[in-house]
Amino acid sequence: MNVGSLKRLVKRGFSSRWGWRLAGPLLRTPGVIVLTYHRIVGQDRSLAGVPVEIFTEQMRWLREHCDPIGPESLVERATHPTRARPAVLVTFDDGYRDLHDLAYPVLKKLDIPALVFLATSFVDEGGMLWTDQVNWAVLSTRRERVKLPWSSEETIPLTDSRARTALGERARAHLKILPDAKRRIELEALLAELGEVPPRDRQMLSWDEVRATLDLVRYGGHTHTHPILSRLDRAEADREIRTCKERILAETGRTPTTFAYPNGRAADYTSETQDILRQNGFTLVFSSAEGIADRQSDWMAVKRLSGDAPDIPDFAWLAAGLSKT
Ligand SMILES: [Zn+2]
Repeated sequence: MNVGSLKRLVKRGFSSRWGWRLAGPLLRTPGVIVLTYHRIVGQDRSLAGVPVEIFTEQMRWLREHCDPIGPESLVERATHPTRARPAVLVTFDDGYRDLHDLAYPVLKKLDIPALVFLATSFVDEGGMLWTDQVNWAVLSTRRERVKLPWSSEETIPLTDSRARTALGERARAHLKILPDAKRRIELEALLAELGEVPPRDRQMLSWDEVRATLDLVRYGGHTHTHPILSRLDRAEADREIRTCKERILAETGRTPTTFAYPNGRAADYTSETQDILRQNGFTLVFSSAEGIADRQSDWMAVKRLSGDAPDIPDFAWLAAGLSKT
């Protein structure tokens, strides 16, 4: 037996009822597993996301093997963990429409609470997150080669889907490091270079859909227009955070106290960002650094784990915080 199939066997055993119950407490870091999802995808797989059938399997597994909680229990459960049945908090970033259409029915059936972070301008006005605009434009452009606006000597051929995906990744990586005003200008130039692309149907939640899920879903902030907060000056960051809070309160009647940083790495927020969040009443803030929420957690930068796993053995492995091994 080779190493790959041995590892597979170990993961499969670990994800089983007895494996999880017996080996889990020994291998897992005690604390709360906070899972991150973005898009859940159904028939249309043109933009990346977790397929709904895989998501459904994951939620069934969580219901059976873990203890799904809402955000109000996070600090208590993280500081007083139980070993056999770990608490899990399911979160979604950005506020995609599929939360209502695909994820909510699954969560409802299994009675699993969720926490969703909204970039409120998209709920107000529709449109796509700029990262999705880039993805969609490179995938669907009719141009066969493009010049990057920030590196005009170079022409990139778009011969196949791999070249398109690579261009999307490269463009996003470049745009994410720019000051926000410059990012907006270069984004427009890139989209112009890619030419007209077919329109997409509505991608993000509407406020009616948000309200239709309030029995099970809590909503937190994720800024108004989804800029990376460390690329803004204080007044702009304040406006993004305050507007987001006010829009959620106005539309749901509930003051949000949770928040997730766009992009979420340590370079994407500052201590000034955290000051502004505290001043606006946010007390539980999530990053995208990998880890389990436990006694040592910084509640202004709670670590999470991506729920993006191909099957249940891999999902159980990552939920235990073992994905790097
Ligand atoms: Zn986001």
